[in-house]
Amino acid sequence: MGQLERTLSIVKPDGVSRGLIGEVVGRFERAGIRIAAMRMLHMGKKEAEGFYAVHKDKPFFRTLTDFMSSGPVVVMVLEGQDVIRRNRELMGATNYKDAKPGTIRADFANDIERNVVHGSDSPENAAKEIAYFFSVLDIT
Ligand code: UDP
Ligand code: MG
Repeated sequence: MGQLERTLSIVKPDGVSRGLIGEVVGRFERAGIRIAAMRMLHMGKKEAEGFYAVHKDKPFFRTLTDFMSSGPVVVMVLEGQDVIRRNRELMGATNYKDAKPGTIRADFANDIERNVVHGSDSPENAAKEIAYFFSVLDIT
């Protein structure tokens, strides 16, 4: 058995506008992952820049933060054994072209930037990213 963990998931603006919230949440639920918190919000440019600060020197930072502030997103705290890695598995590779069939990105993305979902990549980043959107009292 892995560690009981929490991770941050985001249905990105493309996923929300394309009507994929239920599809994504359904995949988590069917995988036995518990939704411990969930909220819809619309980030401003500054908030998207803060969230993706680790990527501030990347060539895609400007378009990524424009995209992430372009419309509402659904932010969720997922909880389960080994959920950081399991969520990344369900998501698939960053580039949908490299993502395994049956993953969210392989099934729904057709652009490397507009790839439907975000998921934390480590326990350290999961803790930071959860705290960016949720207070302790929001997490059930
Ligand atoms: N991204 C992009 N071009 C790239 C790499 C990443 O537009 O070459 C975008 C994409 O939306 C990705 C996000 O930046 O999900 C964050 O990149 P990261 O490498 O952290 O990928 P992830 O952890 O989301 O798989
Ligand atoms: Mg990442």
